[in-house]
Amino acid sequence: MSTAAAPVPTSRWEPVIGLEIHVQLKTRTKMFCGCELSFGDPPNVHTCPVCLGLPGALPVLNARAVEFGIMIGLALGSEIARRSLFHRKNYFYPDSPKGYQISQYDVPLCSGGRLGDVRIHRVHLEEDAAKLIHVGESGRIHGSDRSVVDFNRCGTPLVEIVSEPDLTSPEQAHEWLTLLRTTLRQLGVSDVNMEEGSLRADANVSVRPVGSTELGTKTELKNMNSFRFLERGVRAEIERQTGRLDAGEPVVQETLHFDPGSGRLTSLRSKEEAHDYRYFPEPDLVPLVVSDELLAAAEAALPELPAARAERFEHALGLGVDRARELAFRRELGDYFEQALAAADGSRDAATAIANWIPQLVERIGSDAD
Ligand code: ADP
Ligand code: ZN
Ligand code: MG
Repeated sequence: MSTAAAPVPTSRWEPVIGLEIHVQLKTRTKMFCGCELSFGDPPNVHTCPVCLGLPGALPVLNARAVEFGIMIGLALGSEIARRSLFHRKNYFYPDSPKGYQISQYDVPLCSGGRLGDVRIHRVHLEEDAAKLIHVGESGRIHGSDRSVVDFNRCGTPLVEIVSEPDLTSPEQAHEWLTLLRTTLRQLGVSDVNMEEGSLRADANVSVRPVGSTELGTKTELKNMNSFRFLERGVRAEIERQTGRLDAGEPVVQETLHFDPGSGRLTSLRSKEEAHDYRYFPEPDLVPLVVSDELLAAAEAALPELPAARAERFEHALGLGVDRARELAFRRELGDYFEQALAAADGSRDAATAIANWIPQLVERIGSDAD
């Protein structure tokens, strides 16, 4: 008869989360050609030899996209590289007619920075792929499912924002994304609409023993299409990982899909199946040089940002930190608050009194859809 003690209750695990966010820029034309951006137009009407990847077509960089990228970097406190490079990221997929994506690799436009409590790793420019539409059961041809491609999206300017792994809970990830979205909206650089795909987020998740400073093995949750689903997906993944570790099984590095309907996580690919993108410098583009004028113009175009506004509400007007954020992270609420305050006497007492009305106001306006 075994007298072995029951397994020691496991130490507590602490989640670590890092986010990668793709933002479609609200320029008039695409990243490397003159085709107009559109959402909801008939398929394949905004195309040309460049964005269709026809042989011999040459890319021309969109200056406005660069300016927007710099504005985002400045808003996030990044260092703006005065000279950065474009690379080819090679992969074969029907949504990428060139067989590669033009992106930035080892010398991105923006490095470092911070938004709220989270450090920014980098911000770089790239182009979006076309849109694959998978036709469901009714669209079966000869027994196989059908996929069609809409090239209107192909070549849309994108900025990818990569955070450091500084988030420690699903709720915090949700709140931080809300701050990021508000910041980008305030900058006027993107529609930041998750439903329309102008904002897309991937979450990297790991857990480690509380108090440890080493990072655990991470998994990646791809393409969550709402902040609420992302929060739920991350929560489910933290539970799955702690469950495995508690059972003495390792976490395997892989890419996962979270189905909000069933709440299930399924593997898309493992580390072994990871792509080898064979990056090399884009030979058809010269290095991107940011002039003093361009930097100055981007700086001049920066509005007051939500994080700064929240601090002003807190310190200059004496609001509590939560109320200050609630108002500042939603522009229309903050604007309403400031107009009401100006109509009163502008004092700290008035600020507190008016701010206390805000919950009723939020109820009447409804909560921000995400
Ligand atoms: P990869 O080489 O797999 O792309 P990176 O180091 O470039 O990984 O990081 C990609 C994203 O994953 C970043 O947002 C980063 O903060 C996050 N990340 C990296 N390591 C971890 C980890 N152990 N746990 C959680 N997130 C992580
Ligand atoms: Zn084009
Ligand atoms: Mg990486």
